Amino acid sequence: GQHDRFAVAMIDLDGFKPVNDVHGHPIGDELLMHAGERLRHILSSDALLARLGGDEFGIVLGEYSDATELIALGKQICQELNRPYMLSNVSVQLSASLGFATYPAVARTSNGLFERADFALYHAKKNMPGEAVLFAAHHETLIRHDSQIEQALRKADLSQELSLHYQPVFDVETGAVNSIEALARWDSALMGRVSPGTFFPVAEKTGQVGMLTKILFEKLLREMREWPEHISVSFNLSARDIVLSDTTEWLIEQIKANGIAPDRLTFEVTETAFLRDFAAARTSIRYLRNHGARVAMDDFGIGYSSLRYVHELEFDCLKVDRSFIAPLASTERSRRIVKTIIDMCTNLEIDCVIEGIETQSQRDIVIELGGRLVQGYFFAKPAKQPVLKRLPAMLKKQ
Ligand code: C2E
Ligand code: CA
Ligand code: CA
Repeated sequence: GQHDRFAVAMIDLDGFKPVNDVHGHPIGDELLMHAGERLRHILSSDALLARLGGDEFGIVLGEYSDATELIALGKQICQELNRPYMLSNVSVQLSASLGFATYPAVARTSNGLFERADFALYHAKKNMPGEAVLFAAHHETLIRHDSQIEQALRKADLSQELSLHYQPVFDVETGAVNSIEALARWDSALMGRVSPGTFFPVAEKTGQVGMLTKILFEKLLREMREWPEHISVSFNLSARDIVLSDTTEWLIEQIKANGIAPDRLTFEVTETAFLRDFAAARTSIRYLRNHGARVAMDDFGIGYSSLRYVHELEFDCLKVDRSFIAPLASTERSRRIVKTIIDMCTNLEIDCVIEGIETQSQRDIVIELGGRLVQGYFFAKPAKQPVLKRLPAMLKKQ
């Protein structure tokens, strides 16, 4: 081409879909037009701007001097897009993430560039939503790693290689096990043990996650039949599971078919599910609850609109994200936040699980703040055999 170097950017508007669903398509279209105008306004006249479909935009930038400049521009773009939008009769906000790839440093073909800009975007959405990420050399290894995982998942005998570990949630007032969370483990013949934090995002991206969910849930129900009937269990659902009505219907059918009381099961969902398709997630949550199962919001507090979800969706339980627990001993602020969440749950008459408790002092503080349901390495690590024993007396609330 005529440029020695240029950059490709991909932008994704997280939160667009819910706006469309809740306020209707005319408002959605208006939002896209405003976003387009904001972009046009920031970009120099030689930049090529295109809507790639849905809530994705692409930009080809002719002139830039170095990576620092690109990142600064990316930041500016995200900030601009993240400002509230005043539309016909509503004000809405969303979270724009951006990925850059540069020619010729990162790739020399247009496919290669788009693929890498898209990967940088995916990386941004996953690790730093609302920000810009430049595709870097070490991402090349990650791309290769992701596609290795994808391949390994395709080739695996998953019903053989997947298993569940169990981590209890204790009630510190009674010392009893409140419930047990099932956590997936994958021992790949090709790659060894791969952590669920690594393979679920890949499976989610490649559409393999529904299959994993089915295999894991069948295993769980089979194992539950051996456990005392008063033990209830949490099962994690991925974002894709919760927006598909087929999957939620299947879950309920399986529970019934195995003769298990639905109120022994809590499905844990994270905010990413609501970002993807709010209306569908709400329908699924209602469906599960109407059939007697419970639903918990996982990783509460780190998303960008958690309170809205608590307001508009019906949860039986919130799980406070680990990131609030680590700094408990050192910062007053995090103590107040955790206390506020515990009090909010009390007022809403729903359960509040404090997860990620690793130390005695975190345990002490959580109890002092009024926390009752606790989970973490300090009490018990995830293990192949579920812990059904009560807490030792000294760990209970005195
Ligand atoms: P999560 O649902 O938030 O699960 C809690 C994670 O924290 C687990 O990691 C658990 O082992 C870990 N953990 C528990 N106590 C502590 C602690 O005191 N300190 C620290 N640092 N970590 C603690 P794990 O098993 O690696 O799972 C990671 C994530 O993978 C889970 O986060 C969940 O999002 C996902 N995941 C796991 N199993 C499944 C599954 O069956 N289905 C789906 N869709 N996702 C799953
Ligand atoms: Ca969980
Ligand atoms: Ca969690």
